[in-house]
Amino acid sequence: MDEDDALLREDIVATALRMIAVGLNRGTSGNVSARIAGGFLVTPSGLACEATRPEDIVAVAQDGTARGARLPSSEWRFHRDIYAARPEVTAIVHAHSPFATTLACLGRSIPAFHYMIAVGGGNDIRCAPYATFGTQELSDYAVTALEARKACLLANHGMIALGASLAQALALAVEVEALAEQYWRALQIGEPNLLPDAEMAVVLEKFRTYGQH
Ligand SMILES: [Zn+2]
Repeated sequence: MDEDDALLREDIVATALRMIAVGLNRGTSGNVSARIAGGFLVTPSGLACEATRPEDIVAVAQDGTARGARLPSSEWRFHRDIYAARPEVTAIVHAHSPFATTLACLGRSIPAFHYMIAVGGGNDIRCAPYATFGTQELSDYAVTALEARKACLLANHGMIALGASLAQALALAVEVEALAEQYWRALQIGEPNLLPDAEMAVVLEKFRTYGQH
């Protein structure tokens, strides 16, 4: 383990703890990873974040071989496949956060009910179809739902957020959860007005020009 990896391991543990602190995850649900040369580092399977130490973080090679004292998160496949499909992504967080998961349990994508949906990279945040956790099928669905997007929901499961850093991926997950809550609230009293594609194109262009909020 080189020094860079050691720092990254600490950053992964800190990110996982932050996910608990901001209410994105509870107990052992959810996981965090960061790209390294030839693969990625990911949180271990079935270990509570509070009990996870930097040395518990597992190195997984792009061929799926794991190195470490612990087993990698059961969702290591979608982490591997997202890194393979998306060269710009260097960090991934996965959460079973309450509002995103509520919508995911209804199989609902989040449409352009609010302009901030553009943080996900497009005019909606798609919900990937259901498949059993940890399977290649789930990974394939996730990669497809993430096409031209930085976040997606997973039906009857949770959400995934991508970033060019752990801080970015975490910030996006927080934003997606906020959008999911706002959409959920709006649905309680009616059918939200959706922004037209032409307006979302303007917003997406502004996001590209001025950077993230
Ligand atoms: Zn999960």
